[in-house]
Amino acid sequence: MSLMRSLLLAAAQNRWLRDHATHYSFVRGTVSRFMPGETLDDALGAAQTLRGKNIGTVFTYLGENIKDHSEAQQVAEHYLEVLERIREKGLQTEISVKLTQLGLDFSPDLCFEHLKAILKRAQKDSVIWVDMEASNYVDATLDLYRRALTAHPNVGICLQAYLHRTKDDLSKLLPLRPSIRLVKGAYNEPPEIAFARKRDVDEKYFALGKEMLRAKKENRCVRAAFGTHDVALVRRLADLASAEGFAKKDFEVQMLYGIQRVEQERLASEGCTSIVLVAYGSYWYPWFVRRLAERPANLWFVLRNVFAG
Ligand SMILES: Cc1cc2nc3c(=O)[nH]c(=O)nc-3n(C[C@H](O)[C@H](O)[C@H](O)COP(=O)(O)OP(=O)(O)OC[C@H]3O[C@@H](n4cnc5c(N)ncnc54)[C@H](O)[C@@H]3O)c2cc1C
Repeated sequence: MSLMRSLLLAAAQNRWLRDHATHYSFVRGTVSRFMPGETLDDALGAAQTLRGKNIGTVFTYLGENIKDHSEAQQVAEHYLEVLERIREKGLQTEISVKLTQLGLDFSPDLCFEHLKAILKRAQKDSVIWVDMEASNYVDATLDLYRRALTAHPNVGICLQAYLHRTKDDLSKLLPLRPSIRLVKGAYNEPPEIAFARKRDVDEKYFALGKEMLRAKKENRCVRAAFGTHDVALVRRLADLASAEGFAKKDFEVQMLYGIQRVEQERLASEGCTSIVLVAYGSYWYPWFVRRLAERPANLWFVLRNVFAG
């Protein structure tokens, strides 16, 4: 892992930086590249614009590791309201939740109740995605995911290709007919837990993606979504899907708001399922710094905003 990436991932966890950096206009200016705004209305506006381009959306309300039960309750209630607003606007937008935001740290049972309430409120043809967080949460997240999937087929899980364990996790999930979003992985993990070299992560991603496509073809996977901006990987997987006779709309790619916009539109215009994850909320600092770590060249945007401001 590059030194810059490690430094940025450490900075993402730094409370002092979080409390101070978010007040600077050049930081806020850069953030606007990756999120349409802090409020749900901003996210809904972006979803409507993207829908005009045949691009679907998934919303995520930013925040991690909340402190008490009442905060978990507030987040769950917020998501219930989001589902109502999506329905009112006639949008097909889905949501993606972090279990730590729903209370995983202090009560997995309470967290499960919140997740169930959200799943019950969602439209049946709309998936509620569960994010995957740092590696110490993987067992608990998969455990709750399996419990939820037993009663609610409309729940999806994120798996991270950089973890050594993911091949096994995928094999164990497939008999349950899951929906899976495959990503490379965004946290700072040691080499015993995660592949460190980009080349290894990319090859792992392709191998797992191939397995997901095979499972989808055999009806053992409901949604096989590729959460990546890696255009070369997307093309390799799209070629494989086409060779296997997949309809275009069954090839699904999810990207983050503001990243690889041309590719998002190209996929949509070809008839593939192109989805953009729209993040909003005032707790954006760690999320934003992880976006910088994924591509340290993004620091140039920060610098440009220093001089612009
Ligand atoms: C829809 C979605 C959901 C996600 N959910 C999770 C999750 O639940 N848990 C988790 O650990 N991670 C999640 N991630 C983040 C993911 O793990 C990666 O950190 C992130 O997607 C960067 O990896 P990449 O696959 O785009 O490939 P990379 O090899 O990092 O990037 C490929 C190319 O994409 C472009 N690019 C990538 N990132 C950026 C960026 N930040 N800014 C500008 N250009 C960029 C660059 O051109 C780069 O060369 C999610 C990502 C997406 C798209």
